[in-house]
Amino acid sequence: MGDSITANGYVDRVLADDRVLVWFDIDNTLYPASAKIGQEMGVRIRAYVANLGFSSEEADKLATRYSKQYGLALRGLVRHHAIDPLDFDRKVDGMLPLEDKLKFDPSVRKLLEDIDRSKARVWGLTNAFLPHAKRVLQILKLDDLVEGIVFCDYRVKDFTCKPEAEYFGMAMKQAGLSDPSKCYFVDDNRGHVDAARALGWAKCVHFCERENLEGEKIHTERENGVVEIATLEQLRSVWPEIFVKHP
Ligand SMILES: [Mg+2]
Repeated sequence: MGDSITANGYVDRVLADDRVLVWFDIDNTLYPASAKIGQEMGVRIRAYVANLGFSSEEADKLATRYSKQYGLALRGLVRHHAIDPLDFDRKVDGMLPLEDKLKFDPSVRKLLEDIDRSKARVWGLTNAFLPHAKRVLQILKLDDLVEGIVFCDYRVKDFTCKPEAEYFGMAMKQAGLSDPSKCYFVDDNRGHVDAARALGWAKCVHFCERENLEGEKIHTERENGVVEIATLEQLRSVWPEIFVKHP
């Protein structure tokens, strides 16, 4: 009897969880592009593709094309060259010098701490595989502030990734969400943000460096409702309703 009361109490709490969910992309969002991880990744991807028998020029073109076309170079490599994604993960993401390049930024930690957890859950939403995502969050000292991570599962044949609708649907399912109006999302990739927005994710933010003529960091809203920000701190003014109010 006691057990069933406990179980029902738990179910009631889950069903009553009407908090919104804030999805953070990880790479080049929770740390700045100036850390140049993207470049390090590019070098390793091109080397990997060249190793399949392409000239370095062809490798460069292919990697760029797949990255644009599929949101993730690896997606194209799996589809058209039948490569083993786990081998790719070991030789590309697994070899990135993250510990040397990434720096803990207390202001990003404070930003995540200041999200009111009685109103919002915080999850990661990445096109990387889980080991890389975890490694980044640990170095940035954010792992205890991110409650769940939706990642590309490189072990699954034909795994899905952003910006595919299926991927966003899978993310919501994993989080137990059915209402896209409860989704907040920030990503440095415009295509990913626009795709989520088109699916009805309510509060989509594109993180990109933008300055006005005076060199001031600005945020603007586009016609599809996506807001562009130049610093993560601007999330406090774009999404004031989910941050704790400091006296
Ligand atoms: Mg990113």
